[in-house]
Amino acid sequence: MTALSTLPPETAEALHATREKVCALHAELTRWNLVTWTSGNISERVPGTDLIVIKPSGVTYEDLTPASMVVCDLHGAPIEDGCSPSSDTDAHAYVYRHMPEVGAVVHTHSTYATAWAARGEAVPCAITAMADEFGDDIPVGPFALIGGDDIGRGIVATLTGHRSPAVLMAQHGVFTIGKDAKSAVKAAVMCEDVARTVHLARQHGPVHRLAQEHIDALYDRYQNVYGQRKGTDS
Ligand SMILES: [Zn+2]
Repeated sequence: MTALSTLPPETAEALHATREKVCALHAELTRWNLVTWTSGNISERVPGTDLIVIKPSGVTYEDLTPASMVVCDLHGAPIEDGCSPSSDTDAHAYVYRHMPEVGAVVHTHSTYATAWAARGEAVPCAITAMADEFGDDIPVGPFALIGGDDIGRGIVATLTGHRSPAVLMAQHGVFTIGKDAKSAVKAAVMCEDVARTVHLARQHGPVHRLAQEHIDALYDRYQNVYGQRKGTDS
């Protein structure tokens, strides 16, 4: 096991920066109304290590500090004594072990996206903003109970080879992935935004998926302009 006190200076610096970033980005979850009480969490890999930084369990967002962020190995085991990591850590860790290109994971129960998850229904790719960011429908993953690897396995099975950085885990909520924490948070914000818009559109009439050729063109253009996708693009 890595003792944090014996890390080489450049790794210690990277860990410090990751703690600060992951702590600060949790404020985005509340700013965009994606979470209630302590229900969402962010994790990110520490560059150059097999460590992740994740929210402590049960701590409210306003009480988070960089020092309270929990450092875990890729099996979700905390490296040092202190706060317990998020109860979703097993799911995050499974994703890092099986998707080496993923640099960050975000989990929320944001209202509109989770309403689609409650129905077990994918959000159809019906608007251009969705084609840009997700390049497809936002898919539904299997129902899985918390604890163990089942949630992580469902996330990996659903998102591997899929353009979408977001998955709606059935009757649970949203998991997003990204090359870093900021892009995974952005995907969580956009997921809720488009889930809301398509939900509202549904109230007054049918919603039609964009033509596949248009989805492909929009996705290619957006990804080339902004270059943000799952850590595979720079
Ligand atoms: Zn959850």
